[in-house]
Amino acid sequence: MRLFLICLLFLGSAPPALAWNAAGHRLVAVIAWQELSPATRQAIGAALAGHPDHGRWVERARSAEDVDVFAEAASWPDDIRNDRRFHDEGREAPTPPLPGLPDTARHKDWHYVDLDDAGRARSGQIDRQIERLTQVLRSTAKNAEISNALPWLIHLVADIHQPLHVGRDGDEGGNRVEIENPFNQRLPFSSLHLYWDDRPGPPWLRGQRLHRRAAALIDRHPAPPQGNVRLWRQESHELLAQAYPDSQGSLLPMVSDDFHRRAGEIAERRLVAAGHRLGRLLEQIFTARVSRGTP
Ligand SMILES: [Zn+2]
Repeated sequence: MRLFLICLLFLGSAPPALAWNAAGHRLVAVIAWQELSPATRQAIGAALAGHPDHGRWVERARSAEDVDVFAEAASWPDDIRNDRRFHDEGREAPTPPLPGLPDTARHKDWHYVDLDDAGRARSGQIDRQIERLTQVLRSTAKNAEISNALPWLIHLVADIHQPLHVGRDGDEGGNRVEIENPFNQRLPFSSLHLYWDDRPGPPWLRGQRLHRRAAALIDRHPAPPQGNVRLWRQESHELLAQAYPDSQGSLLPMVSDDFHRRAGEIAERRLVAAGHRLGRLLEQIFTARVSRGTP
C-alpha cells in the first residue's frame, strides 16, 4: 500500500526541476550587485528597463530599485517555463513572436549539462551558453540584445554552481533519483534534484529579509577566485560525490541530519561563489564596453 501511495505521489509530481529556486537566484543576484561599480549598476538598470517583462519584475519585487529588479530578472528563464507565451522547442508548436524578444523558446537545455562517466557532455549546454551570452554582451551594440542576454547570463552563472546542474547523464542530474526528505513536511518525497534546488530557502524570500540573508552569507563565506566557466563546471561536477544521500529510509535513500547540514553548507558556499563571480564578470563586461565607447 505504501509503495502504491508513493508511486501516486511521483506520478503527480512536477516535471524535472531546472534551477536553484527563486530564492537562490535572488541571493546570487544581490551578492553579485555588491561587486558592481555605480556605472555598471546604472548600465544594467537601463538595460533591464528595456526588457519587455520589466514591468512584471517591478510588480513582483514591489520595488523599482535597480538591485531589486536585477534580483527579480534572475529567475526569468525559470519563470517562462510556466508562461504560455513561450513553448518547448521541438515538442510544441512555436508560440507567436513577442515584441522585443528574439524568440519564444523556453531553452530548457540551457540550464544544465549532464556528463557521462568519462566526463563528456551528453546533454545540456549551460557552459556553452554562458560563454556565448558573455560574448554577446561584450560585443553587441544593440540595446535589445543586451536586455535579452542579461537575465539569461545572471541566471545561468547561478545554475552552473548548483552541483546537480553539472550532473550525471544516467540519472538526468538527479531528476530520476527519488529520495525521502523528513525536513520538508509539505514534500516528504521528491527528486534529489529538487531537494538541491530548494536548499537556498523559501522561494518567496524578497525585500529586507533577502538583503539581510545575502549580507549574512557574504560574511560567512569567503569570496573564491574568479576562475572561468570550465572551472565552475568542474567544481560542481566534483561536488556530486557529496550530493547523494548515503542513508536508507524505509523505501528510498533518505536525507539524514548530517547530510542536510552538509548540503546546506555546500549550497550556501556555491551561492556565494556564484554571486561574486557573476558580479565580477558583469563588471568586467560593462567596464570594457564603457572604455570602448560601446553604448
Ligand atoms: Zn535554471
